[in-house]
Amino acid sequence: MEIQHKKSLSKHTYLKAYCPHCKRNLNAGKSEERKLKLKAIYKQEEISLQSSPYLEDFDLKASFTVDKGEVFDDIFCPLCGASLVRSDIHCRECGNQGAEIIIAADEKLIPFYICLGNGCEWHGLSKADERKIRKIPRQDMPEQDELLRVNNFEEVPYGYTSELAMLEAERCIQCKNPKCVEGCPVNVDIPGFISLVAGGEFNEAAKLIKRDNILPAICGRVCPQEDQCEALCIMGKKGEPVAIGRLERFVADYEREKDLVKKPVIEGNNGKGIAIVGSGPAGLTAAADLRKRGYSVTVYEALHETGGVLTYGIPEFRLPKSVVQFEIDYLKGMGCRIEVDHVIGATITVDELLEQYDAVFVGVGAGLPKFMRIEGENLGNVFSANEYLTRMNLMKAYKFPDYDTPMPLGNNIVVIGGGNVAMDSARTAIRSGAKEVTIVYRRSREEMPAREEEIHHAEEEGVKFRLLTSPVRYIGTDYKTVKGVECMEMQLGEPDESGRRRPVPIEGSNYTIDCDVAIVAIGTEANPTIFKSTPDIERNKWGYIKTDTQTNETTKEFVYAGGDIVTGSATVIEAMGAGRLAANAMHQKLSELSVHSE
Ligand code: FAD
Ligand code: SF4
Repeated sequence: MEIQHKKSLSKHTYLKAYCPHCKRNLNAGKSEERKLKLKAIYKQEEISLQSSPYLEDFDLKASFTVDKGEVFDDIFCPLCGASLVRSDIHCRECGNQGAEIIIAADEKLIPFYICLGNGCEWHGLSKADERKIRKIPRQDMPEQDELLRVNNFEEVPYGYTSELAMLEAERCIQCKNPKCVEGCPVNVDIPGFISLVAGGEFNEAAKLIKRDNILPAICGRVCPQEDQCEALCIMGKKGEPVAIGRLERFVADYEREKDLVKKPVIEGNNGKGIAIVGSGPAGLTAAADLRKRGYSVTVYEALHETGGVLTYGIPEFRLPKSVVQFEIDYLKGMGCRIEVDHVIGATITVDELLEQYDAVFVGVGAGLPKFMRIEGENLGNVFSANEYLTRMNLMKAYKFPDYDTPMPLGNNIVVIGGGNVAMDSARTAIRSGAKEVTIVYRRSREEMPAREEEIHHAEEEGVKFRLLTSPVRYIGTDYKTVKGVECMEMQLGEPDESGRRRPVPIEGSNYTIDCDVAIVAIGTEANPTIFKSTPDIERNKWGYIKTDTQTNETTKEFVYAGGDIVTGSATVIEAMGAGRLAANAMHQKLSELSVHSE
């Protein structure tokens, strides 16, 4: 750790020092070479002391040889002659007295103590002051080299080591009014858990996060922290925010890998039952919260695997399936029943569920792919990103013939879109052996909705970007499979309702990109299956469920909803927040009903 500190100290951490008595500057010389100069009494002789202005070298040297460990009788200001020794300050390393000077760091004046023992590295600073001087930079996460990772589906970042996590945690200044918490949709006690990490209490930190977030290993990996907690972190105002997501991931992985996960306390069975429709993050969170309160909970999932987008959408190299499965097993361990291959609306209706359960939560996501409705979209090998990723991830098409999922792997793949789904598709295509993968996006890089980290990883892995470009039609072979995408160049016009500048086509700029597979990743919408048999669940003009924003109850009593099926495509943590809100409201309503019926 010490090495890290020293490395991280910028060569420009030039410290201005002042005498606390005469307030004059104690540095002598020019600019960054200015040494700190003091006087000392050593063996009854007056000697000169000097030090480099860098903290790491702040061991005062006498102008004649003084052995390390020898103790000065006094240290005093060469300008006013006042003794700098403070009788009430003692070195925590060796017990000798300390001399005080004042240094300017981060635009603040900080008392700085120097041990009278020559060469002793103690500076008597508080952690917070030390941080101001040392300026620990945000710690990077070690990750798989891009040349290796394009040939495998293994996770790209390795995660922090304990040392890196503690160092990063030290950067948090423990704000009294922590803005980061306001940015977290489930209000995790962020300074609380970071302070535990800084002290090496990783398991305690994991427990604290889990009080508010049942899926920290997942959120630590895929949450857009840069737009949420980290966007509001005070450290980001002048420099880089604390890496809250990386720390969250670290503690969750630590707890899991060290086998320290404990089953939560479950209240006694309260005799009431809840049906949860959909096993994505919204459904899983609602299920866990209600089970903890003693409800008997059954989760119905349409697919043969649980986890929603976490399982069938987000690829292994970003979110390992073992991590998702662990969280689902945790839920099962709490006593939640999970029924896969149950399409609610087809196998059973919501009304039928209401006959068996006291309330229903609908968290079916927004999995119906959107298309551009342009010529050639029905050609063979033009896929929605949903189908492509489901076949590749859930059904392991890239391992054909070990897994019998057919999927053309393609040599030349074009992906349409600029969000996380587009990046996931392009990066999956690269790993499946495509020679060239091109993202076509109609705005500029700045407007891309994907996380910066994902765009950066895609670029590193060799994905090509055709920005300010939009497809106008797909061109087919005689066998009705795609062989190219005709595109038009765009320029940015006035901002649209989303606040982003509207792309405007440039007439006559058409050109063709050759491809043998095209993947459309331009968004999704609500799947209507569940509504066909339940028309009394009201929906808005985009087809998403209308809910009471305070409770997440739908227009059908005792039916609640949350996640992408209410908001449209959003984020994992927002879906979890919606599941939690509904669980709280369901509990309140059902508890009040029980009191009245007693
Ligand atoms: P989902 O996760 O969609 O889960 C809904 C579940 O309901 C599914 O399992 C589905 O099979 C099931 N279901 C549907 N209909 C029925 C039915 N009739 N009966 C029973 N079950 C049904 N968000 C981030 O925060 N960070 C990211 O990096 C990120 N990357 C993404 C990458 C991809 C490829 C995709 C597609 C999305 C990504 N998102 C990301 C968005 C995020 O995954 C979603 O916002 C989130 O999963 C929504 O959760 P949910 O519970 O509402 O729905
Ligand atoms: Fe720590 Fe940043 Fe939160 Fe302040 S805002 S408590 S520095 S993480």
